[in-house]
Amino acid sequence: AKSRGRGMLRFFSMEMMGRSKARLTLEAALRQSVERDELRLYYQPQVDLISGEIVGVEALVRWQHAERGLIPPNEFIPLAEESGYVVTLGDWVLRTACRQIKQWAGLGLPLRQVAVNVSAVQLSRGKLVESVKDALQETGIAPGMLELEITESSVMLDRERSLETLASLKALGVQLSIDDFGTGYSSLAYLQQLEVDKLKIDIAFVRDMTTNSNNAAIVKAVIALGHSLGLEIIGEGVETADQARHLRTLRCDIMQGYMVSRPIPGAEMTQFMRTFKPV
Ligand code: C2E
Ligand code: CA
Ligand code: CA
Ligand code: CA
Repeated sequence: AKSRGRGMLRFFSMEMMGRSKARLTLEAALRQSVERDELRLYYQPQVDLISGEIVGVEALVRWQHAERGLIPPNEFIPLAEESGYVVTLGDWVLRTACRQIKQWAGLGLPLRQVAVNVSAVQLSRGKLVESVKDALQETGIAPGMLELEITESSVMLDRERSLETLASLKALGVQLSIDDFGTGYSSLAYLQQLEVDKLKIDIAFVRDMTTNSNNAAIVKAVIALGHSLGLEIIGEGVETADQARHLRTLRCDIMQGYMVSRPIPGAEMTQFMRTFKPV
């Protein structure tokens, strides 16, 4: 048993070494993604559940890798967070989204906001406020058209610091939303202190809402809680008309999901919005 154990150990450490080598290679390539112009922003529409119009869009990053093709964010954002590169990447996302906003602002669309995801690492480095200020200044867009999505868990990592940063961002005039709401453990008292405008109900709750009565109860409670704090509620991951109906019944304000559209490149999104008929 002892020799077998040793063999296993060797097997595992070799596999781990292989993995970390692949990781290092990917990380080195990732560090060049901005300068090599390999990042792409895709956009997913958010539809008002009463008017049926597209009132918002969420920007979602992808990495166009020379050999591997389009890589989804879950495969490189964690790596970028570990190395700190997510700050550079995040600045690119902010700048690119603001330029896109500038282009969309003049088209006479009902679009109110374009949302950008902010990593916990960006939030804790303290440079975020400066970066947002720079992107707003460079493009001259109305600050209220930019929305920053901050996850519930990243806000909870360093509450004091988050409170300060969110207040500074709010002072710039941008919109703030709490992403993946329901997955963390924010207290009502704490949420009340945050100067956020919207709550995004996590996909997991919306997905099982129509089949799992516990999840339906959670969604209902989150909507009621959010509204009592004066927040708008976005239901994420809406794939079926049934889920959309259910959210509307519960007075959810906005929906986002494959039912309306998958995330698509900016130029396609422009076409999509121009030809969209309120649902
Ligand atoms: P998220 O912010 O919670 O984004 C929602 C994810 O759900 C997106 O995946 C979106 O494509 C997907 N989704 C939307 N509608 C549906 C649906 O109806 N059904 C299902 N099953 N999925 C749906 P995506 O684009 O792969 O992004 C994954 C995560 O990567 C995001 O989760 C976010 O945490 C992170 N991310 C994306 N872009 C950025 C970025 O620019 N910066 C940072 N820091 N993180 C980002
Ligand atoms: Ca998000
Ligand atoms: Ca989310
Ligand atoms: Ca508000």
